[in-house]
Amino acid sequence: MGEMRFLKLATLQQVYSEYLRLVNPLDRVEQISVLESLGFVSAEDIPARQDLPGFNKSLVDGYAVRAKDTTGASTSFPAVLHFAFEVKVGEEPKRPLGQNEAAWIATGAMLPIGADAVVMAEHTQRFGEYVEVMKPVAVGENVFKKDDDVKLGQLIVTKGVRIGPGHLQLMFQLGIQRLKVFRRVSVGVISTGDEIVEPFEQNKSIAQVRDSNSYTLECWLKSLGFRIERVGLCRDDEEMLFKMLKDSMKNHDAIVIVGGSSIGTRDFTESAMNRSGKPGVIFHGILMQPGKPTVLGLLDGKPVVGLPGNPVSFTVSARFVLLPILRKLEGEIDFLPKPVGMVKLARNVSSRQGREHFVRVRLFVRDAQVWAEPLESETAQVSNLAMADGVIRLPANIEGLYAGDFAEFYPLWSGW
Ligand code: AMP
Ligand code: MG
Repeated sequence: MGEMRFLKLATLQQVYSEYLRLVNPLDRVEQISVLESLGFVSAEDIPARQDLPGFNKSLVDGYAVRAKDTTGASTSFPAVLHFAFEVKVGEEPKRPLGQNEAAWIATGAMLPIGADAVVMAEHTQRFGEYVEVMKPVAVGENVFKKDDDVKLGQLIVTKGVRIGPGHLQLMFQLGIQRLKVFRRVSVGVISTGDEIVEPFEQNKSIAQVRDSNSYTLECWLKSLGFRIERVGLCRDDEEMLFKMLKDSMKNHDAIVIVGGSSIGTRDFTESAMNRSGKPGVIFHGILMQPGKPTVLGLLDGKPVVGLPGNPVSFTVSARFVLLPILRKLEGEIDFLPKPVGMVKLARNVSSRQGREHFVRVRLFVRDAQVWAEPLESETAQVSNLAMADGVIRLPANIEGLYAGDFAEFYPLWSGW
């Protein structure tokens, strides 16, 4: 018998372009309170209905003045201005500021009309009705202008962006109460394998393996706000998998099948997928390591992802293949993983040319530089996963990197 081969191999780039192009956003919109919106993808462009900060705001404690009234002021020849009034935070000034007048103003308070700068208290002296200014100020000095932050009509949230804490700040500042978002995607997960048992099974044989993948996926995706249901365990049995898949396709927007994604005689993910909808399997085998035995199908418009059972491969494939699919499905525009920075390698790492490699690393800081200590090991698999801060990504066209080289770093669990 000849060696079995993956027949529909793809690079990760092809997955991101060719497969993801076939994944259509669900486009199911609901209106929710801003209070609930963190982590949702916005379904609308939201323009600012006012400027921010909305009024000319003093950045210091001091005197609001007309800058030209302070021209040439110095310690020996101060500009002498009339004390006009005081402006407290949260209060509108009593009246406009006249020529040669100075109004005491607190940090964060609103400049009176007519004033165009603020002199810091340190450069002034008050003598009853008079204020001596010992240093000139330029127009705009110590002032945060009314539309410096946001201009009326400017988009503060755009359609397809995932709402983060910064968007919340803007929406609350602008008094926005509700917004349209895309509904969260619902994911069904089927675990396969004759050896796989529930993690809390009491009467387990030592030769059986606890299902850590689907439970970890559930916890992780929930933390990102997705809806996820573990459909259950499936034997290595094509008929049973076909039925479970067909059934869960009725209830979920995307399906994950864990295990059985390779090309062995007991691997049924591909065949069950091809029986369950059109066009069926698009790619089988991705030129990445770990994570190569990944199956990508599109069954009657629904993405179905077969992930490898090995927990390390599973994790990397879930992070770099499954997550972008779910993000695009939810209508997010920027759905591809982004490195959070470049890190310096503490040791050499080798990789096989022709495959992208993801190497688990631990980060540390030395000499004002972030370093990555590779944790790769054939044996310490799941334990390394727990120790890792994330992974570095090695392009397919190299045979490794040397200590001191730089590589892209991606967190595995936190963030997007
Ligand atoms: P498979 O991808 O089905 O060939 O499985 C590869 C390896 O991953 C085997 O050693 C399985 O026992 C293990 N494995 C499969 N499914 C799971 C799971 N849900 N949780 C933990 N390990 C698994
Ligand atoms: Mg298996």
